[in-house]
Amino acid sequence: MNISFDNTENAFAYKSDKQLKKAKFLFSTMDYPLFVPIGTRLTPFLMKTGLPVHGIIRNTIFQQFVGGETLEETAQVCKMLDEYNVQVILDYAVEGKDGEENFEQSTEQFIKVIEYAATQKNIPFISIKLTGLARFGLLQTLNDAPRLRSGIHDHEEEMNEWERVKDRLYRICEVAADKNIGVSIDAEESWIQDPLDRLTMELMEVFNKEKAIVYNTIQLYRHDRLHFLKISHQIAQQQNFILGMKLVRGAYMEKERARAVQYNYPSPIQIDKASTDKDFNAAIGFCIENIKNISVVIASHNEESNLLAVDILDKKALPLNHPHVHFSQLFGMSDNVTFNLASAGCNVSKYLPFGPIREVIPYLMRRAKENNSINGQTGRELKLIRKEMKRRKTKVA
Ligand SMILES: Cc1cc2nc3c(=O)[nH]c(=O)nc-3n(C[C@H](O)[C@H](O)[C@H](O)COP(=O)(O)OP(=O)(O)OC[C@H]3O[C@@H](n4cnc5c(N)ncnc54)[C@H](O)[C@@H]3O)c2cc1C
Repeated sequence: MNISFDNTENAFAYKSDKQLKKAKFLFSTMDYPLFVPIGTRLTPFLMKTGLPVHGIIRNTIFQQFVGGETLEETAQVCKMLDEYNVQVILDYAVEGKDGEENFEQSTEQFIKVIEYAATQKNIPFISIKLTGLARFGLLQTLNDAPRLRSGIHDHEEEMNEWERVKDRLYRICEVAADKNIGVSIDAEESWIQDPLDRLTMELMEVFNKEKAIVYNTIQLYRHDRLHFLKISHQIAQQQNFILGMKLVRGAYMEKERARAVQYNYPSPIQIDKASTDKDFNAAIGFCIENIKNISVVIASHNEESNLLAVDILDKKALPLNHPHVHFSQLFGMSDNVTFNLASAGCNVSKYLPFGPIREVIPYLMRRAKENNSINGQTGRELKLIRKEMKRRKTKVA
C-alpha cells in the first residue's frame, strides 16, 4: 500500500498561510523546555484568579486543540473537516465537575450532542469521560471494593449513587443506539478504571448485538491491557455481541508512575516505550484478526502503527474503509496522518473536543504536556509545518 505521511500539501490544505504561521509560533513556544512545566502549573491557577488570561488561551492553545466553546462554533470545524473526507469524534469536554446537578446537565448535553451528530454525515461517534457523569471518589471506592461492586456492600447511599450513574449512561446509549451514533468511553486513571470497564462491558452486551454502538478504551502503556483485550473478546464471543474497542497508548503515564511510587505498589505502566509500542501494535493485529466481531478505533499519532494497520488490511485484502476499522487523531495534532489516511480512502476522524475554556483546561494541559520537547511530538509538528511553509514559498517563487 502506497500511503505516505510526508505529503504536507494534503496535511495542511485547510490552513491558510497565516494559520500555519500561528501554529508554528505555538509549537515553537511549547518547545521551550521550561514553558510547558511552568505553564501547566500556572494556567489553572491564573484561570481561578480572574486575571484576563482567557483571551490569550482562546487565541493560542484553545484554537489549536479545541473546536469551540459551543456546539454552534464547533459545527464550523466539523463542516470544514468534512470537505476533506475527515470524520469527527465529538467530545463535550467537561472534566472533574462534581455534583449531581452538573452530572445531569452533562447527560443532557451528551444527548444533545448525539442528536446533533445524527444530523451530520461525518460525525459517527461521540466521546464520553465517565468522570463527567460520576464522582471520582465513588469510582475509586468501587475500584477498590469488589464487594461493593457485587452489591453485597452495606453502603446503600453509594449503591444508589452508582445506580444513578448507570442510569445516565443507559439514557445516553439508548439515544445513541436509536440515532446510530457510536459512544466511545475514554480510559482514565488506573485507580478508577475497573468500574468503567465493567459498566462498558455491560452496556456493550445490551447495545452491541448487531453493530458496535458502545466502545471501551484500552491504554496499551499498561502492561495488563493486551490480556484484557483478549479476555474482553472472549466474553463478547460468549455473550454474542460485537466488541467495540478504541486503542490508545495512554495519557496519564507520569501521574500513574508517581502514584505507584507514592503508595508503594508495582507500577501498572510498561517498563519502556518499546514495550508499549509492541503491545499497541499487537492489539491492532489482534483486532483486525478478529474483525468479524471486533470494531476497532486506532487512536494514535504514531506513523508506524497507522501504517501497520493499513498494511495488515492490505495483506488480508480487506478494504481500507472496512466498517469495523476506524483511525483517529486529536484535533490540532498529526494532520499529516489524518489527511493522508483520508485521501487514501480510510475511515479517519479528528477527536474534536468543545466546551467553555474554563472546563477544557485539564484537556489542554494534557495536550501541552504531550506536545512538550521531551517526547518529541512538538518536533514532529514543527518539522512538518516548516516543510509545508517552504513548499508554499517555493511554489510562489
Ligand atoms: C482519538 C484519540 C482518543 C484518545 N483517547 C484517550 C483515552 O481515552 N484515554 C487516554 O488515556 N488517552 C487517550 N488519548 C491520548 C493518547 O493516549 C495519547 O495521544 C497517546 O498516548 C500518544 O501516543 P501515540 O499513539 O500518538 O504515539 P507515540 O507518540 O508514539 O507514543 C507516545 C506515548 O507512548 C507512551 N510512552 C511514552 N514513553 C513511554 C515509556 N518510557 N514507557 C512506556 N510508555 C511510554 C505514552 O503513552 C505516550 O503518550 C487519545 C488519543 C486519540 C488520538
